[in-house]
Amino acid sequence: MLRTHTCGELRIDHVNQEVTLSGWVQRVRDKGGMIWIDLRDRYGITQLIFDESKTDEKVVETARSLGREFVIKAGGKVVERFSKNDKIPTGDIELDVESLEILNKSKVPPFTIEDDTDGGEDLRMKYRYLDLRRGPVRRSLELRHKMLQETRKYLDSQKFMEVETPFLIKSTPEGARDFVVPSRIHHGEFYALPQSPQTFKQLLMVSGYDRYFQIVKCFRDEDLRADRQPEFTQIDCEMSFVEREDILATFEGLIKHLFKNVKGVELTEVDRMSYDDAMKYYGSDKPDTRFDMKFVELNDVAQGKGFNVFDSAELVVGIVAKGCSEYTRKQVDELTEYVKRPQIGAKGLVYVKYNVDGSLKSSVDKFYSQDDLKTWADKMSAIPGDLILVLSGEKNHTRNALNELRLRMGSDLGLRDKNTFKALWVLDFPLLEWDEETKRFHAMHHPFTSPLLDDLDKLDTDPGAAKANAYDMVINGVEVGGGSIRIYDRGVQQKMFDCLGFTPEEAKKQFGFLMDAFEYGAPPHGGIAYGFDRLCALFGGSDSIRDYIAFPKNNSGRDVMIDSPSTISNEQLDELSLGVKKLQEK
Ligand code: ASP
Repeated sequence: MLRTHTCGELRIDHVNQEVTLSGWVQRVRDKGGMIWIDLRDRYGITQLIFDESKTDEKVVETARSLGREFVIKAGGKVVERFSKNDKIPTGDIELDVESLEILNKSKVPPFTIEDDTDGGEDLRMKYRYLDLRRGPVRRSLELRHKMLQETRKYLDSQKFMEVETPFLIKSTPEGARDFVVPSRIHHGEFYALPQSPQTFKQLLMVSGYDRYFQIVKCFRDEDLRADRQPEFTQIDCEMSFVEREDILATFEGLIKHLFKNVKGVELTEVDRMSYDDAMKYYGSDKPDTRFDMKFVELNDVAQGKGFNVFDSAELVVGIVAKGCSEYTRKQVDELTEYVKRPQIGAKGLVYVKYNVDGSLKSSVDKFYSQDDLKTWADKMSAIPGDLILVLSGEKNHTRNALNELRLRMGSDLGLRDKNTFKALWVLDFPLLEWDEETKRFHAMHHPFTSPLLDDLDKLDTDPGAAKANAYDMVINGVEVGGGSIRIYDRGVQQKMFDCLGFTPEEAKKQFGFLMDAFEYGAPPHGGIAYGFDRLCALFGGSDSIRDYIAFPKNNSGRDVMIDSPSTISNEQLDELSLGVKKLQEK
């Protein structure tokens, strides 16, 4: 070994020991007679000291020749430090260097390898291997490692078996677009990379594997959006002979285990909410329940008083911002501008200030008396000192907009603390979603999700009204996972494909293997997948999943370090029967 210890290991107890360390030069301080070097590796930093009056001349000379990020090996005696550094665990000691060897030189790195670096995002991504040397990035990946280990520990303890499923599969319409891989041997044919191992894990249930999991890469060729990665990792799970309650209990268990063992946080009970309530009270299927500020619908008290904007609206709905009655004109105008931004798209914002003296002042005083406004306030449980904010218009649009405003107010009022964690199951999603453009239903979750038992008949009569036996886990307003109880009967699955507008031939071509399997004793089963990168980001208190991926793609789906995607040679194209060369020759 080129070292006896790591750079994070030595303590006061090691004083007087002869040791050898290897690592990277973080910093050289040359004060004439004395030279100090911070030596860094994955485990920490240890200070090396060279004293011109004592240290071998050659060693001092070598020390003077070192640059940032040189890789060196230093041997010597551990000594107690004169001025201790309580900011690092090795701060009580330093290494009095007796021998020094340069293992490799380094060019000057394009940005400083410090916690606060001077490198911009693009540069750091291009030199990601240097970025990975930085403390914050390393700590994020250490967190991810711990999450991986604890996930495996918990699932293994619950008798889940880790099974790998293939990456080269067949293109299926599962929501997003597939990444496809041309086959060289089978001209004109393509594999697809899995959007998830969904059908394979269901087949494993048919095979009797009973409890499956896999921490697995999934691939979706979706439109670019900030912080969306074309490849990402899921904790993918499936169980047999279970009902919804069993799944919720098992996977609440996983989340609680992770919070406890990775963060030392005891997660309180996981609340539950129906999809309908989530939309009605929070305007979102992933409400942030760290704070209340529930929507209150005001149609019955606000309509019919001559204010046309409200009278013509499908929905009039508001929230109460506690203690904000003294917001200035400027602050309220700013909120109005916020909701009118094109991304949110509200036409305007109505406010009512419930002043501390009990009077009410609104932006629609022309149409509403003090008594009218008092009725609103009572309905919303507002008290003097509060500010009421009201939006109106088409139902879904207005709910969306008020959701944004609620989140904004939550942030402004400091109600979205990163160290508070509120987990929630959202249940009973609609099974299908009507798509105006294609004039057909889409599966809201995926086509293998079972309807609620009571809604089975609706597949024949009113498919749009059927609820799914599906669940999402939401933590602090982030959807971290989702799954469902599956269809395991061939007839029901066929019916589901009918509802989705598949012809029997199409269904057979795409999913015949699954429907065939259902004829050989498929057990009742269900499962879930957690978005692993997102879970890591949540645990790490960051909004960016990229920080938790060793080699992520940038916002436009590129890996700027290896320069991918990239073109391939005409020879390769020809081999894959995608070539233009042959055409050109003709
Ligand atoms: N395969 C689903 C997904 O990727 C999760 C599940 O239903 O288990 O969202």
